[in-house]
Amino acid sequence: RIAWISARKNTMPAEQRIVLEHAGLIDPDDIEDYILHDGYSALGKVVSEMKPAEVIELIKASGLRGRGGAGFPTGLKWSFVAKAAGNKKYVICNADESEPGTFKDRLILEGDPHKILEAMAIAGYAVGADEGYVYVRGEYALANKRLQRAIQQAEEFGFLGNSIFESKFNFKIHVHAGAGAYICGEETALIESIEGKRGEPRSRPPYPTTVGLWQKPTLVNNVETIANIPPIIRHGADWFRQFGTPSSPGTKVYTVLGHVNSTGLIEVPMGITLREVISIYAKGMRNGGTLKLAQTGGSSGSVIPAILQDTPMDFDSFEKAGVSLGSGALLICDNDTCVVDLAIVLMNFFRNESCGKCSPCRIGTHRAFEILNKIASGKGILKDLDDLDEISNNLYSMSNCGLGQTAGTPIHDVLKYFRAEVEAHVRLGVCPTGVCEMK
Ligand code: NAD
Ligand code: SF4
Repeated sequence: RIAWISARKNTMPAEQRIVLEHAGLIDPDDIEDYILHDGYSALGKVVSEMKPAEVIELIKASGLRGRGGAGFPTGLKWSFVAKAAGNKKYVICNADESEPGTFKDRLILEGDPHKILEAMAIAGYAVGADEGYVYVRGEYALANKRLQRAIQQAEEFGFLGNSIFESKFNFKIHVHAGAGAYICGEETALIESIEGKRGEPRSRPPYPTTVGLWQKPTLVNNVETIANIPPIIRHGADWFRQFGTPSSPGTKVYTVLGHVNSTGLIEVPMGITLREVISIYAKGMRNGGTLKLAQTGGSSGSVIPAILQDTPMDFDSFEKAGVSLGSGALLICDNDTCVVDLAIVLMNFFRNESCGKCSPCRIGTHRAFEILNKIASGKGILKDLDDLDEISNNLYSMSNCGLGQTAGTPIHDVLKYFRAEVEAHVRLGVCPTGVCEMK
């Protein structure tokens, strides 16, 4: 693995743009500009030259995995929907991006809205759906506006609607704006929300692939995932597999934040390391500071201690290391960061965003927040650490949906990698880093 990392260092490209291939290059409000950059050629290809099963096989062969956070194999998910019984099926693009610090999907939508529409139509053709929804975060007004305009243009040009490319394939797309609830990014809560109900997660299984929108088989894919589809169709599975690692091909779009010299969006091959992101793309730690940790994927990602900064950032390497890639935020923190303070911020987010349907999450997030605050204020006792451990385990094992199941991750990671620092808050009654103002 060390040889592999060294090889990567020697051949490190500036950035590898697949998802963001058009961002900043085309006018997102002009369909003709998109067409001039190969736009809708992939849709034309699949509708005219490929059978639906061939499209699914191609996506399976590419090895594309879900970029919303879970890394589920995309082609496999498509095949589940294609095989599900029934004539009416849906495609949903999950654009309810709400992880703290994550704004990759917003920039993909704002920079290249037609690509998402083209990809959804390809997915619809492959799985046998004739209708799709983009569920866009309510606060993403510009993305919403650009999507609406793009749909209108695509219908005028015959890329959406009936008899697409003069075939028998029909596909229409609606845009549904969320109303500010983080939980509506959970796929079943999102489906409930489109149906006009309160956005509360269902119990899975059954998964949306068989029982989804209005009880029909439904494909739900994240914006970044689906943005890979047109390039894969245009260039092929082998082309896609030349980027990234064998088990996580392709690229990852990260929002780089925190104590570094250069923040913003980057698209880089899967498998590069945190050290490489910081030194090459983020231009080093701010004020010559030392990396203490990075937090991936907003709140539901992992706390990555500096000792893991040479671990390749791909789904499997991270899983082996016991951490998760998350949805694409990389909050990079230097030694002036208090881990208790960090855990409080994250737990505050979860307790506010818990939908309250099940008690381990509704009560557990509040209780953890209270205990962390007690520790931060110098009134903690050592048993509080055991209680936090227990709450974290209960959240993981007893919560109904991904929000509750991942809400304990920051506590788990902080206690695993920085237990001494948390204990020091208790034993000394002050913050050992000296930067966390004791309340
Ligand atoms: P999951 O692993 O349970 O499922 C991933 C996907 O695969 C889902 O679409 C699910 O329906 C499908 N799937 C899994 N097993 C299946 C099966 N047997 N049959 C059919 N389909 C199956 O993950 P999840 O709970 O859906 O999502 C959790 C992830 O979402 C976390 O990694 C978290 O980081 C991420 N997340 C992202 C955001 C964001 O803003 N991007 C927000 C919140 C959470
Ligand atoms: Fe709601 Fe939390 Fe239960 Fe998910 S785990 S259903 S967010 S209360």
